[in-house]
Amino acid sequence: MRITRVEPFILHIPVTGGSIADSTHRISHWGVVGTKIVTEDGREGYGFTGTHADLASDRLITACIRDCYAPLLVGEDASETSRLWTKLARHPALQWVGRAGITQLALAGVDVALWDLNAKAAGVPLWHLLGGAQRDKVEAYNTDIGWLSLSKEALLDGCRAAIEGEGFRRVKVKVGHADLNVDIDRLEAVRRTVGSRVTVAIDGNGRWDLPTCLRFCARAAPLDIFWFEEPLWYDDVASHAALARASSIPIALGEQLYTLDAFNAFITAGAVHYVQPDVTRLGGITEVLQVATVALAHRLPVAPHAGDMSQVHVHLAYWLQNTPALEYIPWIKDAFEEPADVVDGFFKKPQRPGAGTTPKPETFLRYAKPLA
Ligand SMILES: [Mg+2]
Repeated sequence: MRITRVEPFILHIPVTGGSIADSTHRISHWGVVGTKIVTEDGREGYGFTGTHADLASDRLITACIRDCYAPLLVGEDASETSRLWTKLARHPALQWVGRAGITQLALAGVDVALWDLNAKAAGVPLWHLLGGAQRDKVEAYNTDIGWLSLSKEALLDGCRAAIEGEGFRRVKVKVGHADLNVDIDRLEAVRRTVGSRVTVAIDGNGRWDLPTCLRFCARAAPLDIFWFEEPLWYDDVASHAALARASSIPIALGEQLYTLDAFNAFITAGAVHYVQPDVTRLGGITEVLQVATVALAHRLPVAPHAGDMSQVHVHLAYWLQNTPALEYIPWIKDAFEEPADVVDGFFKKPQRPGAGTTPKPETFLRYAKPLA
């Protein structure tokens, strides 16, 4: 499978309801920024990272793919995913400017495209190529009902619609107001609305400091919170470890960790309970497999974060030994040949060969942005 062409792309796809916000971000579109890789036998693999659809920074990612990675890939054998990952991630010049951020997001797109090519060449879905499904069903949790920008009434309506209308048994609610009393009030109302049998996770998106988190967790713990995601600044291992020691609420994180080493630091410090690697933030599927192995060695559950809106992670979740649930946000799924769909609270098991990353032809006509 000799690589002949590497063609980056940028897609901006609208989010639900015009715009959404958490405690630190407000967005109107999700950026699907990545690459098509073509081989001499005519196969096409697709991979992408997820962004906040900021065109200027999206172009830094596609420039990295076009100018730095493509010359290292053309002529190579696409089946050698591990060696090519190392060639790109540990290239002496690129390592100097890389290991996180732009180069890593670009690497994610390339690596996922290579895995997509390999699964297509084998004629199987990615979960099968990885070694087969470990479970019959993958349960979904709904994040799209829980944005901080929703009024309390809209939040409760969304919970009811997801649970009674669509069969979800798990939801995630954003927190992180300047006044934590607002969040406690919203969470108490959510718990009253969903009852005791629906799991409620929360997500702070790194807004609060340790004293605020300690006060908040003492009041939120009686509400049976499934996990508290990104309670503190993303890189702060010591404060997460302190919160983990002080609170009964499990901590989840990983969506802003870019390396195996970063995950290892949190895991060995006892600073995380639910490990959340993301193929779009780490260096693709190759590095998520490494993180999953470390988590397994510590007997920690892995709940991938959905920077890909679960197009790829649904394959990983079927394959992982130790995953409780997978994130569901429906923004981009219908742009792909095989959408990551949920029926009665469970993700459909992908059937098509590949990694779930092949866009429909009309997707490029509707959402593509110019690379320069
Ligand atoms: Mg999050």
